[in-house]
Amino acid sequence: MKVSCAGGAYGGVRVKQMKIILLGPPGSGKGTQGAELSKSLHVPEISTGDMLRQAVAEKTALGQQVGDVINQGCLVPDDLIISVIEERISRSDCGHGFILDGFPRTIEQGEALEKVLPDSVDVVIYFNVSSEAVVARLAGRLTCRKCGAVYPKVDTSLCSVCGGDLYQREDDMTSTVLRRLELYREHTEPLVSFYREKGKLAEIDGEGSVEDIAQRVEEGIAQVLA
Ligand SMILES: [Zn+2]
Repeated sequence: MKVSCAGGAYGGVRVKQMKIILLGPPGSGKGTQGAELSKSLHVPEISTGDMLRQAVAEKTALGQQVGDVINQGCLVPDDLIISVIEERISRSDCGHGFILDGFPRTIEQGEALEKVLPDSVDVVIYFNVSSEAVVARLAGRLTCRKCGAVYPKVDTSLCSVCGGDLYQREDDMTSTVLRRLELYREHTEPLVSFYREKGKLAEIDGEGSVEDIAQRVEEGIAQVLA
């Protein structure tokens, strides 16, 4: 089975648009798979963080509101994020759909998204990865101080790109990883049943090689659309 443009056939199913949400714990590899899907489906990958930064930088009316909230040191409220998403996905590059990463993160956000944009999603891809695998992936990696390149924890102590020192980022410390996982399990994981009940969930075993997982993603999407 070959992934084709969202405007064409997908796993034998013809679709005009492909609106996808990526769901999974930190370190589940959803970013990597999202980038692959974005290329094969020719739809943009929209990371909520990037989207908000872009809105602020472009000084759109919404972007200025977001900037004000951030400057006050507050969290951007859900309805404002959804307005920014609504504006972003109305742009021409989203004509064949989009891949949303980083939103919704809670049931409340999922419900709000459904209310404002009822047909906002076709498939939710859930990357199921055990806590042990997440810890091994994130707590087991080193980052170059100079250029930010990421390495598995191995014997080497210098970056092969720029020769800089490798160190363990605060975000990748085991205790930080466990804390982020705990927050994810408590607040975000309930969205798995939320979207399963709506018949939109493609549950993917997120452990294995990038190629194997990409294959499962493709099959998972086809199953939900069938
Ligand atoms: Zn480097």
